[in-house]
Parts: sequence; structure tokens; C-alpha cells
Amino acid sequence: MSSTAGQVIRCKAAVAWEAGKPLVIEEVEVAPPQKMEVRLKILFTSLCHTDVYFWEAKGQNPVFPRILGHEAGGIVESVGEGVTDLVPGDHVLPVFTGECKECAHCKSEESNMCNLLRINTDRGVMIHDEKSRFSINGKPIYHFVGTSTFSEYTVTHVGCVAKINPLAPLDKVCILSCGISTGLGATLNVAKPKKGSSVAVFGLGAVGLAAAEGARIAGASRIIGVDVNSSRFEHAKKFGVTEFVNPKECKKPVQEVIAEMTDGGVDRSVECTGNIDAMISAFECVHDGWGVAVLVGVPHKDAVFKTHPVNLLNERTLKGTFFGNYKPRSDLPSVVEKYMNKELELEKFITHEVPFAEINKAFDYMLKGEGLRCIIRMD
Ligand code: NAD
Ligand code: ZN
Repeated sequence: MSSTAGQVIRCKAAVAWEAGKPLVIEEVEVAPPQKMEVRLKILFTSLCHTDVYFWEAKGQNPVFPRILGHEAGGIVESVGEGVTDLVPGDHVLPVFTGECKECAHCKSEESNMCNLLRINTDRGVMIHDEKSRFSINGKPIYHFVGTSTFSEYTVTHVGCVAKINPLAPLDKVCILSCGISTGLGATLNVAKPKKGSSVAVFGLGAVGLAAAEGARIAGASRIIGVDVNSSRFEHAKKFGVTEFVNPKECKKPVQEVIAEMTDGGVDRSVECTGNIDAMISAFECVHDGWGVAVLVGVPHKDAVFKTHPVNLLNERTLKGTFFGNYKPRSDLPSVVEKYMNKELELEKFITHEVPFAEINKAFDYMLKGEGLRCIIRMD
């Protein structure tokens, strides 16, 4: 047991006091983990769009003051009652969606949408006692998606923590906590392209490029990148994307352009934009008879998917995925191994790095659309 086990830890955390205002580094108190909880020392964290959405809190339930952050790598500091499969010192990735291993979803081979620990963006407290483990002078500071990694120490449910190979560099594999695994899994677990097949990827942000990385790993012979922002194309070449299409520069619908390029359609497509028109195009550009389209992007709340049913009758398949269908505790360790054995490349996703004190710079890079992932060093 560590010397801090069972005690309140005082440490630094980046607190979002109000929507859209720069985070403030504060000294917070972090209570010990309760039943089925673990307290983690975060070493590296990175910024994802979801943090920015909930920090801006436009059209969402504002929960402030809050500690954001959900992509990270850390070490278990102490464990609460009932935790048997983690011990202090274990290297872990916290994950925004969990795996209780007991519900119908966790017991199903096909689902990763745990009943107990599925993402909940409105909840700012722990499930066990509906209280926050963070406070400043006794005033609670709320949690975010069960992870709150913008803190030197955080408390999570044990089901939201994947134990990984202790030799894996946490400053690299921390990005597997969310977006990169989502895109990678969308291709490898859901679209499942065969070797030599053609894959279209809609949206060349971090998630789409991870989908392209999945296509490269699967041995796709053509990877067609589709984005309305042509400046994404240069960087995407590093991810094995072989051809590019900007729908804004096409004289006809992009699905028709892709069908012409591929003699009837691509074998697989993965949509990573959140734009409803791109979702429809991604479905309609797959080949009849065998084509599979996978939706990953989170659409606007009023969006409606409209296509002629004949597109489905002609043996095209439409699927969707959450976190790339990975079960966080069972499957993430093997994704880390893919990186360790050099099958999966992560360095090319990491475009910036800042010390914790400069965390607001990471927000600036993302808001300006600069780069893919910014690693925030906690030391
Ligand atoms: P991003 O904003 O970095 O990238 C999106 C890209 O899509 C941009 O390059 C943009 O120019 C492009 N785009 C927008 N509209 C387009 C259109 N009509 N046609 C072609 N390209 C278009 O975002 P990201 O971080 O890579 O995330 C992508 C999506 O994945 C988001 O919607 C995000 O919410 C979602 N997401 C889903 C899950 C899940 O589990 N399903 C998990 C994480 C993220
Ligand atoms: Zn479950």
C-alpha cells in the first residue's frame, strides 16, 4: 500500500469554473476511493473534442465547476473496498465508458455498451454514493465521464480502468483511451475490410485517421480519404491514405464520384465526421452486394438519416459503433500490444506536447484545428 492510501490527497487540477472560460490550475482535495473505486496518479493526458464540447457546453446540460479530461495514462495509487483485479502500481488507461463484466451487455460477445458504466455526460458524481471525490475548501468540484484526468490524481470506478503492459510508454498509449481506439476499432472490429479491399474514410480528423490506420493494418489496397477541408490531405498521406476527394470540389454527389473511381463502390466505408450528409454519402458509396458502411460520428440531435430502402435491399449493410466496439477492460490491453509489437503506429497522431501548467494551449490548438493530439505532461 502507498503511504497516501486512505488519506485525502492535495494536488493540482485544471478546473473548468464556467463554460468556455480558460481552465484554472487549482489545489484540490481528492478523497480516497470508495467501494469498487480506484485512485489514479495521472502521468499524461490528452485533449479530445468531447472535452471541448462539454467545456463550451453549447446546447448541453452545463455541469460546473468540473474537472474535464478522459484520454490519459496513469498508475494506480490505491484501491477501494471490493477491488480485486487492480493493485497500487498497476499501469492503466482510464476510459469514459466502462465494463462491469456482469450486465447483459458485458456478457454479450457483441456489445460493449455496459448498462452500469456506459458513458454518462451529465453525471458529475460517483455512482457509489452520488458524491464527488474532488473538492476545494469543502466545496465539491464535479467529475466528467467518470474519468476527470485533468488532475494529478483522480478517482474512477474500477470498471472504467484498463490494466495495460507496464512497459508501454504512457505518453504514447494514453491516446488509446478514446478517439484513436474508436476509429481503429470501427475499421478492425466493425467494417472488417479484407486484405486488398478498398476503404473510404469520411472525415480526416484523429478518429478518421485512426480508421485509416485500421485499414492500413488490415491490408486495404486503396484508402480513399474524403474531407471538406483539403488541408487535411497532406497529413493523411502518413496514414496510408492513397486518394483524396473533397465533396465541395465535386460536380456531382461524392457517392457517385467514389462509385466511378471504384467501379461500382468501395468495399467498406467508415464515417468519422458527425455530419449527416457525409453519413448518407458514406452509406451510398459502398458497393452493392457486399459493401459495409460504419457510422462513427456523433450527429446533431435533430439529424435524420434518409436513403432509399433499395440501397439496403441491394445488399449494402449499414452499421454504427460506439468506442470501436472495444470492451475497455477486456480489449484495450491487446490494442496496447499492437502498438508494442509495432503493428499500430501512434507517434504520427501526436502533433503537440505541453506541460500541465499550459493546458489551455491544448484547447487553443484544437479550436484552431491545428494538429491531432496534444499530450499534456503532468510532472
Ligand atoms: P474532427 O473535427 O477532428 O474531424 C472531423 C473531420 O470531418 C474534419 O476534418 C472535417 O473537415 C470533416 N468533415 C466535416 N463535415 C464533412 C463532410 N460533410 N464531408 C467530409 N468531411 C467532413 O473530429 P474527430 O475528433 O476526428 O471526431 C470525428 C467524429 O467522431 C465526431 O463526430 C466525434 O464526435 C465522433 N466520435 C465518436 C465516437 C463513438 O464512439 N462513436 C467516439 C469519439 C468520437
Ligand atoms: Zn456491464
